[in-house]
Amino acid sequence: MTERTNAADEVSGRSENATRASVSELAGAGTEAKAYFSRELLDWYRANKRVLPWRMNRDPYRIWVSEVMLQQTRVDTVIPYYERFLAKFPTITALAEAPEEEVLKLWEGLGYYSRARNLQAGAREVAERHGGIVPDNKDMVAALRGVGPYTTGAIMSIAFNRPEPAVDGNVMRVLSRYFCLEDDIAKPSTRIGIEKLAASLIPEGAAGDFNQALMELGALVCTPKSPGCLTCPVMAHCEGRAEGKEHVLPIKTKAKPPRPETRLAALIVGTGEHAGQLLVRQRPESGLLARMWELPHVLAEGLAPKKKPARGAKAKADKLAAEMLAIDGSAMADSPIVGKEAQMDALCRQLAAEDRVLIRPVGWWSEAEHVFSHIVWDVQVFKAEFGFVLEEAEAASAASDASDRYKVAEGGEAYASAARETAAGGEAMAEGAGMPANYRWISEADMAELAFPNVFLRILREYWEIAAAR
Ligand code: SF4
Repeated sequence: MTERTNAADEVSGRSENATRASVSELAGAGTEAKAYFSRELLDWYRANKRVLPWRMNRDPYRIWVSEVMLQQTRVDTVIPYYERFLAKFPTITALAEAPEEEVLKLWEGLGYYSRARNLQAGAREVAERHGGIVPDNKDMVAALRGVGPYTTGAIMSIAFNRPEPAVDGNVMRVLSRYFCLEDDIAKPSTRIGIEKLAASLIPEGAAGDFNQALMELGALVCTPKSPGCLTCPVMAHCEGRAEGKEHVLPIKTKAKPPRPETRLAALIVGTGEHAGQLLVRQRPESGLLARMWELPHVLAEGLAPKKKPARGAKAKADKLAAEMLAIDGSAMADSPIVGKEAQMDALCRQLAAEDRVLIRPVGWWSEAEHVFSHIVWDVQVFKAEFGFVLEEAEAASAASDASDRYKVAEGGEAYASAARETAAGGEAMAEGAGMPANYRWISEADMAELAFPNVFLRILREYWEIAAAR
């Protein structure tokens, strides 16, 4: 037993053979270790806190926005988004009244877009129910759309200095280590216990600073992979450190790994009146990435690539080569994607069946990945020509109809002749039906108004960059 262990046991009142206190027991106990932690942490924070834009004042709206943006996102990433967002929507009323598209556009690149939609929905509730002022009332704040226990605690403590805990993953990690708690933090019962413990640590009259101090310690010192114990203000009585468990705590059972999905996307390049434009579509009103814009894409079942294409400079060179060669569908001979014809064929058929949009994929363009909490998209992008929009009856049979019309693997000749037949005098190629309402042609400049998820943003920016260089 080391000297440090003895020190920790002494302050916690624990002997070597004593049974470890549960988190609930700790919450109810008044130990010297707890008093030490609260005192030292608060002093450290007040002397060392970072200057951050949301710490300028205690405006609950500003704190609310920052806490929502900071979920799953690093401080450095959030700062420019936060400043742009507050400049555009300086008040709850301004946010409540804004078109959702504008809100999503300002959120573009931050990910987890339901946060933005919920934040605006919550702002509308505050505007309607509370005259545009966040109420100094825990139950009313907790009832707002998208505001969970953590955000409630953060708003109530930081804005109103109410003694409410704000417990997220960072705080659970710090407290698990300091008190050497071996409870599984993935369990709701552990979170509830740690919330009680965190509440019992709040020094009187200093809830806002103390909660921010805990967050700051988790962000700067007691970090997930390499805790900086030697510079930690509470190391002297940290039980996890004393027992050499700072690297194994907190205990967290692994969540189910996200399900991989291969998505086949079409980079549909316009010609004629749409020269220099790309065809994009808007996602449905609800569900994953609701109402955001994207390249049209379909789920590839059983058509995952067997070999990964190159990345970085090699990938760019591949794209340029594909750009030069991919005119008649033969450019894919050296493509790193195995089974590309099958993927192109599936993309053509499924897009026709699902959206009535007939395209001719002409070559592999690039790949990208998008990680959600429950799914990982492997997006294979194919450059394509637009054909026409099908009648509904035709679309229904497109998935199973193996007619030459949808063939792409042999240079797309059958497709091309069908498309030519319907093109009259340079008019848009529409065969009896208009473009689906959620589709539109866009130029690079139009991207300033439409919100795209990161994965498509990256693909589109690369495309415009390459197109401009040609
Ligand atoms: S001493 Fe180490 S493990 Fe303990 S709270 Fe500080 S940084 Fe975390």
